[in-house]
Amino acid sequence: MTIACPCCKASNTAATCRRCKADLSLLAGIEANRGFHIAVAKRFAADERWPEAERHLRRAGTLRTGFDVNGLLSAVLLHQGRYAEALATLPEGEPS
Ligand SMILES: [Zn+2]
Repeated sequence: MTIACPCCKASNTAATCRRCKADLSLLAGIEANRGFHIAVAKRFAADERWPEAERHLRRAGTLRTGFDVNGLLSAVLLHQGRYAEALATLPEGEPS
């Protein structure tokens, strides 16, 4: 998990910025929580429990949106037959 420092924009993998020493622990916690919701959503999707998977992906998206969440959410919506929503959610561009 890489966190961009909001102070100096350096990429970090630790809870303290390697360049300016800013405390990134709150951001790290949010990223960990987001990762948890994505993992739980994948588990529900594997069991074809689409509404539960969708709920966890939407929660992850509130923490930080991204190509990964939008791609998974689009697939989950497709499996529920919600084609227009899936198309609207489909991420554009390349994953970062
Ligand atoms: Zn920094």
